[in-house]
Amino acid sequence: MEDELQLNDTRFFSLPRSQEDVTLRPRSLEGFIGQEKLREKLKIYMEAAKGRQEPLDHLLFYGPPGLGKTTLAGIIAHEMGGQLRITTGPALERAGDLAAIVSNIEPYDVLFIDEIHRLPAQVEEILYPAMEDFALHIVVGKGPLAKTICLSLPCFTLCGATTRLGLLTSPLRARFGIVEQLSLYLDSELAQIVLRAAEVLKIEIDPTAALEIARRARGTPRVALRLLRRVRDVAAVRGTGAVDADIAQRALDMLDIDSEGLDEGDRRILKTIVDLFGGGPVGLGTIAAALNEDTQTIEDIYEPYLIQKGLLERTPRGRKATPAAYEYLDKTPPQEGSEEIFLPFFEKGSCDENP
Ligand code: ADP
Repeated sequence: MEDELQLNDTRFFSLPRSQEDVTLRPRSLEGFIGQEKLREKLKIYMEAAKGRQEPLDHLLFYGPPGLGKTTLAGIIAHEMGGQLRITTGPALERAGDLAAIVSNIEPYDVLFIDEIHRLPAQVEEILYPAMEDFALHIVVGKGPLAKTICLSLPCFTLCGATTRLGLLTSPLRARFGIVEQLSLYLDSELAQIVLRAAEVLKIEIDPTAALEIARRARGTPRVALRLLRRVRDVAAVRGTGAVDADIAQRALDMLDIDSEGLDEGDRRILKTIVDLFGGGPVGLGTIAAALNEDTQTIEDIYEPYLIQKGLLERTPRGRKATPAAYEYLDKTPPQEGSEEIFLPFFEKGSCDENP
């Protein structure tokens, strides 16, 4: 298929990806479903940059994982006539690691740095001249023998991705000309993504089954594609291989994903807030400690969807279950004004570390 990346494509390296994952990535903006406004803006920016025969300005994408940040970077590289180079913030431990990657860069390439908020400070500093002047200043040696080598780089586009915009230093953030948020997808968009993926993977699927998968995919293409694979397994073993609404429903029930798209993790969070902390407000650290879960996982994976579903609220005093959450759990909400704030000792004074 013309629109797909081929499996032996050298445009992707450094991150382990399944063969199917690479095949499913759309290669052009037309194949990228949803995020209409962002797509429109990128189309204009790319056309303008091409007209000036310049690379696209550096971009920063932020939003929960699995929404298409890497995919968009690949599309930009392809449409601008360059290659995509992928790395991650924590993988670049020393200045030399970045130098090794950028020394292979060619004009119009896109250097994608995932989790850019985790870039060490010393690497971030050498990234500034690389972004502004396409120059790399590297200090070689130590003490009186130390000297700075200056390497000039071809003009390239840096594409940073983060789930935590707030953790980026302001000098780094200021060096991106385009800063865009990716938002959760609508069910109808996810259904289109599922149908398209099913076509590529040669899975026979009913549109109602695609919509059922979409409804339970937490607004996230990566989750939708994962569910499609699991539904395909059930269809192959328990059915004829074709996916209809009944098979999809059975497979999704087996995965413990309910009709609201909530899984066991979501339900544990809501139950903890309601049962242990009277519905909140309660600090994120307290919820994480009660669940023996990592705060970042709760913030990045669970919260965006619970908030989008109107089940959870972020208040300046902490997380709060909404009346809809009580309804979902089949419980009666407490009386107005009877709220108590639950903060562990390390959250006192700050109310909530990330309200
Ligand atoms: P992120 O970098 O934000 O974590 P990815 O770009 O890795 O997300 O996307 C995860 C998966 O979802 C990929 O397999 C990709 O093909 C698919 N995907 C994401 N967004 C879209 C989209 N808008 N249209 C089609 N497929 C998408």
